[in-house]
Amino acid sequence: MLRFFTAFFLFTASLAAAPRQVIVISIDGIDARLLRDADSLKLKIPNIRRLFATGTSADLRGVNPSGNFAANVSLVTGLRPAEHGIKESDELDSMPARNFEAATIHGQTLWQAASAAGLKTGLVFWPASAGAGVAFNLPEYWSGKPARDVEFEPVATHAFPAGLPAMISKASPQFEKQLWDDSSAAQAAVYLLRTAKPDLLLVHMSGFEIEQHETSAGSVYAREVLESEDDLIGQILAASPQGAVTVLVSCHGFENANKVLRPKVLLQQAKVAAKIDVADGLIGVTGKSGADYLRTLIGNPKFGIAREVPMDEVRQRAPEWKAWTAAFDTQKDWVASEEAKGSAASTGSHQGVHAFWPTHPGYRSIVVFSGQGIVRGRKLGEIDLIDVAPTLAELLGVKLPQAKRKSLLPVMTH
Ligand SMILES: [Zn+2]
Repeated sequence: MLRFFTAFFLFTASLAAAPRQVIVISIDGIDARLLRDADSLKLKIPNIRRLFATGTSADLRGVNPSGNFAANVSLVTGLRPAEHGIKESDELDSMPARNFEAATIHGQTLWQAASAAGLKTGLVFWPASAGAGVAFNLPEYWSGKPARDVEFEPVATHAFPAGLPAMISKASPQFEKQLWDDSSAAQAAVYLLRTAKPDLLLVHMSGFEIEQHETSAGSVYAREVLESEDDLIGQILAASPQGAVTVLVSCHGFENANKVLRPKVLLQQAKVAAKIDVADGLIGVTGKSGADYLRTLIGNPKFGIAREVPMDEVRQRAPEWKAWTAAFDTQKDWVASEEAKGSAASTGSHQGVHAFWPTHPGYRSIVVFSGQGIVRGRKLGEIDLIDVAPTLAELLGVKLPQAKRKSLLPVMTH
């Protein structure tokens, strides 16, 4: 009997340690608060619900800046944007084209580690991945000044191998069309899973976040988009091999720009001389008098200052703001503005925004790991976005020595 248990233990332990096929689906802008309200909102997301029920999940504290390129590169390097160098937010019209190329990333990526170990990787609409040197690639790419719609053609032009779009079209005749959308990503993912059997598949979908930017965080329209993303997740899961681990992750939460604070105007009106920067969702102050004045306004509902953020936390996550002596975070649905004119506080655009400081109270996204060897239904509380890459590496049986944090696989397999 004892021998049986020992054998069983060794068997399950080796299952936990054996390299697995890993499918990562990154959907921008799933706020943990929205999923906590899934029942009362009657969200029809059966596949997302099943991943949470069968897997180990956590609330995710993001990186700054939180834009899609910065955050999704952190997801595959385990480095913060200040370290991997892809810092531009997803303000699309200010994005320099060079950030489309994988060569602009400083530090090792998961796909490089996988290739070095002889593993096969597929990338679908992953930010900063063009020319990544993987087996299959349809990188996020656009030409000119994109609006809401990403054209299909620049993605297809940068595909690897060059014939990949035509091969997918053979299996899904509706694949090639004028615009790239999340259904394109799902069709490509399903094709790769069925025919190429990649060891690592990274799929990025941005429709949910785009809808929230336009119609507000968790709007009724955005919830419809999330329900259709859930359907696409179901299609990917149906094509996934037995024993694979699926990881659903979102790089940042969402709030609304309902109120705007202009700290420069506020201090001018109070006749307090101070140097103010607004960056990474924070109001950064250089000098004592400005900080002392802002401290008196913490919690005041007229100005939307929520709290002072400890400077050691600021220096760790945003080393470039060396000169700051104090930093302040805004209240929920308040955004700070750099503007030096206008009123100190006013009504905002009411659109969805996500450029908040990573520890902004309540502002978290989600991650869930589900598949062979992963504990069912476990909740890890809160983890950091840069915990994900070393965990994915351990799942694949590869190493990411530069990653700043340790794999969380041990706490989801025992
Ligand atoms: Zn965005």
